[in-house]
Amino acid sequence: MSTPTRITHLVDGRPWSGTAERTSPVFNPATGEQTGTLDLASASLVDEVVTSAAAAWESWADASLARRTQVLFAFRELLNARKDEIGALITAEHGKVLSDAVGEVTRGLEVAEFACGIPHLLKGGFTENASTSVDVYSIRQPVGVVAVISPFNFPAMVPLWFIPIAIACGNAVVLKPSEKDPSAAVAIAALWKEAGLPDGIMQVVQGDKEAVDALLTHPDVKSVSFVGSTPIARYVYETGTAHGKRVQALGGAKNHMLVLPDADLDLAADAAVNAGFGSAGERCMAISALVAVEPIADELIGKIKDRMGKLVTGDGTRGCDMGPLVTKQHRDKVASYLDSGVADGATLVVDGREGDVDSDGEGYFLAPTLFDNVRPGMSVYDDEIFGPVLSVVRVGSYDEGLELINANPYGNGTAIFTNDGGAARKFQRNVEVGMVGVNVPIPVPVSYYSFGGWKNSLFGDTHAHGIEGVHFFTRGKVVTSRWLDPSHGGLNLGFPQND
Ligand code: NAD
Repeated sequence: MSTPTRITHLVDGRPWSGTAERTSPVFNPATGEQTGTLDLASASLVDEVVTSAAAAWESWADASLARRTQVLFAFRELLNARKDEIGALITAEHGKVLSDAVGEVTRGLEVAEFACGIPHLLKGGFTENASTSVDVYSIRQPVGVVAVISPFNFPAMVPLWFIPIAIACGNAVVLKPSEKDPSAAVAIAALWKEAGLPDGIMQVVQGDKEAVDALLTHPDVKSVSFVGSTPIARYVYETGTAHGKRVQALGGAKNHMLVLPDADLDLAADAAVNAGFGSAGERCMAISALVAVEPIADELIGKIKDRMGKLVTGDGTRGCDMGPLVTKQHRDKVASYLDSGVADGATLVVDGREGDVDSDGEGYFLAPTLFDNVRPGMSVYDDEIFGPVLSVVRVGSYDEGLELINANPYGNGTAIFTNDGGAARKFQRNVEVGMVGVNVPIPVPVSYYSFGGWKNSLFGDTHAHGIEGVHFFTRGKVVTSRWLDPSHGGLNLGFPQND
């Protein structure tokens, strides 16, 4: 066993040199070995970091768009060059397989590329002669210090949904990564300094609830971008807004894939397996409920079972298809749903506890699991399990499937599989979910659209990245202007009217 590495905050461009009062262990989920010891920030350290970011912010807000764009392009090049390194850090702490880890960095890179176009994105409107000799124009200005609080399951991509746009808009960022896999965030933050970003504009505080609460209540933090589970998202939204901040808080999910009888069942089976078990089901866009419109369920389940038999679960550095779960506690919690599902009357078709695992250590593995005859009211259906457990719900018609999906309290992602364009169009129009796939199982929007769910999957009204991200990280201002002219004199106490 090697000595765990110290992982700490990144303050004003440098690793923090203080001594932490509290720390937390970081594990390699594929081996069960403790690889890191993470410093946890106290409320007073968060205060120091935010104060320092606030002091650095004004000159960055004044930096020309040309200068900001140079930094963004440089960051984009550095991130692209280092994506394999960052992917390896993710696999070592999260457990997802290397190709998937590099894939998430690439999706984050797309947001950096979008943010490189910030001069265009920040262009306001101009109206000449709105009233006689009066011009009106709109501008968008940065909000100040913005907090980003991210979950364990995308340690690179989720912070990158926000950071490039926030920085491009002229803000200073304080990132609080997940304490389970904090290293990728530190590596990414360090690239900003290398790209030429002034110290203090990209800060990282490591921590838990104490650090989050300090950010949510700090008067110099102007906005909060949160991604995580629904109960914490709701808490962050309520606490942050009560303290006068704008908040976008993305929560948990239960994503349904509706398969109509006319669908290509081989394509649907591939999609269900990929979206159900990729990243061990620890994706907010994972498919966890497969809604089969009869009479196809038996045939579809047969095809899914065949494909599951070919999957290799194991250490993410070994070319396996699926890695471990993130912690031992989470692995045990996910495995407990296999018992509760059976107790509730669901049929356990494939039991992941019996699957082979390619690993040397005591990793947190659970092979892909499949349930049939799942219904609302069973905990395997009602809860976001966040693991490699796919549940088949059989329904008699399209309408019954749609009703099931719309009755679910979550509304992050969904997909329909069909060859009927009319049915697909009806579905995308009537389903109460924020991101919809048509024959696409994980419809994660590209960076120039916005990412976000409905209902309990998002608190606040602004989705991540795309033009909504630019709006979230800026405040709008409208200027009404008239240059002096003798004809404008005279008293008039009436409400301004345009003529
Ligand atoms: P989590 O809610 O446990 O943690 C998220 C963040 O909140 C972490 O930084 C954590 O340190 C902090 N936190 C945890 N408990 C807290 C508390 N009591 N008070 C204040 N802060 C607290 O989520 P997780 O387990 O890291 O991530 C998985 C969850 O995130 C899943 O529910 C998943 O669906 C969701 N998720 C959603 C999206 C989306 O876009 N909607 C994307 C990714 C993940």
